[in-house]
Amino acid sequence: MSLRAPKGTDDILPPHSRVWRRLLSTWESMAEAYGYDLIMVPFFESTEVFNRGVGESTEVVQKQMYTFEDKKGRSLTLRPEGTAGVVRAFIQAGAQGVMKVAYSGAMFRYEQPQAGRRRQFYQVGLEYLGTDAADADAEVIELGYRYLTATGVPDVTVQLNSLGDDECRPTYIEALRAWLEERRGLLCQDSLRTLEMNPMRVLDCKVCAGVVADAPSPIDYLCEACQTHLSEVRSRLDSAGVPYRLAPRLVRGLDYYTRTAFEYVGSALDAAQTAVGGGGRYDGLAELLGGPPVPGVGLALGVDRIALSVPDAVDPALDVFVVNTDRYRAEARALLSTLRATGIRSDGLPDQRSLKAQFKAADRRGAVAVIVVGDEWESGQVVAKRLDDGSQVVIGSEEIVTWLKSL
Ligand SMILES: [Zn+2]
Ligand SMILES: [Zn+2]
Repeated sequence: MSLRAPKGTDDILPPHSRVWRRLLSTWESMAEAYGYDLIMVPFFESTEVFNRGVGESTEVVQKQMYTFEDKKGRSLTLRPEGTAGVVRAFIQAGAQGVMKVAYSGAMFRYEQPQAGRRRQFYQVGLEYLGTDAADADAEVIELGYRYLTATGVPDVTVQLNSLGDDECRPTYIEALRAWLEERRGLLCQDSLRTLEMNPMRVLDCKVCAGVVADAPSPIDYLCEACQTHLSEVRSRLDSAGVPYRLAPRLVRGLDYYTRTAFEYVGSALDAAQTAVGGGGRYDGLAELLGGPPVPGVGLALGVDRIALSVPDAVDPALDVFVVNTDRYRAEARALLSTLRATGIRSDGLPDQRSLKAQFKAADRRGAVAVIVVGDEWESGQVVAKRLDDGSQVVIGSEEIVTWLKSL
């Protein structure tokens, strides 16, 4: 029997992987444009990092983690999300000043697989650590919005909420708990359990969505500092032209958020998975992980879902395919080297085939143009053919780069 990838994992193969390459490279350049450095942290951490950082009451920690013991009996967990590990790394490095970092990579959650919900899934994300300024929240939200728009996710909107802080949240939690207690009979088993640990989790329950639609919102209980923070975030988003609407019952699936919480919603996915990502502020997270107080805000976007919601038709992966007649094999190989050295995406077949077979390969590879190295080479010329309209010209070999760039 032939071997297959584990349930809930995907092989991302060409040509579809071209979309992925574009999504990842756009992410790198946009994060850099906004001043985010690269960070790389381990794919697995001590289980404690997620138990404390993500929160014991969350579905992620309760049901979805890939936890195992290594050969020395240490409990390790494949990262189910990116933030806890990044904050752990910042603390470990001394937690000095401000750190703006971006990452991309695989995350792991044991869930029932469906389209856009995989056991190994990919996120791009960033964290802005060491500031509690509302400007940072707005910048993070804006970057995510610009990224999703630039990559072609249709009708992106931002849903925004504030979850309060240590000052005002306890009052809200008690109000919510009392409200939910009155409706115990309507709640599912999971929600009854999380009601004890963290009543806000109940707002996140898909099964109980109808029951909690009118539940109290944290936004009605904000203290003055939290109100000011929210209105500053809103005015920054307004002036940046980022469309958002308030979502009073948005709580996100992780326990560590304070104040700002947000999600990006697109129109191209099923209702259950319209969110392509989100994030929020997590001013208490560093202390949960045993570090000093470090405010921070961040986001994570699901690349699998973004890939599902953008058009699959992508730009050609090759600028040119070099084709040659039997006699000019060596010349064609030399030309390929020259073109590649100038950064032009070029390829050819690894062995000599008929012209017809070479043209067919050029088509299949999605090249924009074909350069034919044949008898014209003797007079320093090649045949240059566009594959979209089939038109061709004879040009001097020194004109090839200019001609390709003009297409
Ligand atoms: Zn429920
Ligand atoms: Zn507050």
